[in-house]
Amino acid sequence: MTTIDLVSYEDALASYDPVMGLEVHVELGTRTKMFCGCSTELGAEPNSQTCPTCLGLPGSLPVVNAIGVESAVKIGLALHCEIAEWCRFARKNYFYPDMPKNFQTSQYDEPIAFNGYLDVQLEDGEIFRVEIERAHMEEDTGKSLHVGGATGRIHGASHSLLDYNRAGIPLIEIVTKPIEGAGERAPEVAKAYVAELRELIKALGVSEARMEQGQMRCDVNLSLRPNGTEKFGTRSETKNVNSLRSVERAARFEIQRHAAVLSSGGTIVQETRHFHEEDGSTTAGRIKDNAEDYRYFPEPDLVPVAPSREWVEELRKGLPELPRVRRNRLREEWGVSEHDMQSILNAGAVDLIVATIDAGADAASARKWWMGELARRANEAGTDLAALEITPEQVARVCALVAEGSLNDKLARQVIEGVLAGEGDPDAVVAGRGLAVVSDEGALGTAVDEAIAANAGIADKIRSGKVAAAGALVGAVMKATRGQADAARVRELILEKLGVEG
Ligand code: ADP
Ligand code: MG
Ligand code: ZN
Repeated sequence: MTTIDLVSYEDALASYDPVMGLEVHVELGTRTKMFCGCSTELGAEPNSQTCPTCLGLPGSLPVVNAIGVESAVKIGLALHCEIAEWCRFARKNYFYPDMPKNFQTSQYDEPIAFNGYLDVQLEDGEIFRVEIERAHMEEDTGKSLHVGGATGRIHGASHSLLDYNRAGIPLIEIVTKPIEGAGERAPEVAKAYVAELRELIKALGVSEARMEQGQMRCDVNLSLRPNGTEKFGTRSETKNVNSLRSVERAARFEIQRHAAVLSSGGTIVQETRHFHEEDGSTTAGRIKDNAEDYRYFPEPDLVPVAPSREWVEELRKGLPELPRVRRNRLREEWGVSEHDMQSILNAGAVDLIVATIDAGADAASARKWWMGELARRANEAGTDLAALEITPEQVARVCALVAEGSLNDKLARQVIEGVLAGEGDPDAVVAGRGLAVVSDEGALGTAVDEAIAANAGIADKIRSGKVAAAGALVGAVMKATRGQADAARVRELILEKLGVEG
């Protein structure tokens, strides 16, 4: 690999203004493919989920997946797009072995949704509006597997295998208008946009949008123009970037690379590029000029899609609250800072905390357990919070037991440990491990009497007014009750019995 000269990010921005375009592909979570009844389930035996239609065999006829169209309309509406009254699918003709039909059924000049926007919040709280050009329906390709080489790439491979299970899975492609005016924050805007879009897609329930599984991938188009000029420069298109961090890094790298080429008097070639996770660099893919001809034409085997206005309005009414709006509402309801909310979001805890509150916990306790003990355990186990073997209902029950005084925090942590270890619901763990706080006044009283008798010197100090010494006696009682007493109540009892005011 030839090393590429870069100029520093600051120097690049001192001379040039970045313009970006983001194309995001989202694999819908429909049960069946876009134009046939084949299953979309992941992990099946290669080529076991195929039929004459998705293999493009002669005589087969496609039928549009209604849920696919509904999902596209929902996405379009959530992005404030206009929804086409009538639109068609188009054939995008090209040859590639992972595409059995030799054309991709897509949409061309008649997308189902167009002219929208998505407001994204940057780290300093500022809102940046990203304008949406279009969102259209299409289908995914199959997968090639290059075998026999060292890298898994086609170069050096002895042969290739093809799996068509993914061919025909519904995709929605969402394309932004050129994003101008982001300046040095262009990479941050790119990342924030993809993050917000992913939250939105999840909130709509149309896809799980897991980037690491390729359910959502982003092409980053980027060009530079000299500061103060209008005309766009030539863009590069970094393909299939599949994490939020990589989106940001790819944009940043391309800014530095373009600046190096341009400032040394070179020209940028319009081409696709590959992103490399290891060092955040990109390398050239194929030359892609605007003359590229896919011989698009309307798909003759599918009827046009004409979503009725009534149906569109019905879908609009059913839209969930936008993620950004919901986040701000919850932040206020919970009384947390922007920073804490960001941590909650990063930890994937928002929905878990909401569900715990819905199950009866107060916001502060729900937050405390998920972001404290449970986050620690998830971290230790190297998993997500959501993957822990404890439900929001169970956490809410722990909160309730603490609130009513049956558990203190230390015991509550043991209860959580028991639930995670598969010992059952919190009540079952409390019973099974004998964990309830000793609240029986008689038993507590006896424990306090014993502690006073065993520590006569300390008791005298307390009697003579050194109330601070009570801590030692509280400790003795807690030890005697194996931590199962309510420490505050123990202290009260000690002072009461020794005849001093707390
Ligand atoms: P293609 O099919 O070649 O990928 P699209 O129009 O689907 O073209 O997507 C191109 C993306 O790049 C869009 O988001 C568009 O706004 C953006 N774009 C177009 N021209 C430029 C440019 N000169 N610099 C940066 N982004 C651009
Ligand atoms: Mg593109
Ligand atoms: Zn099929």
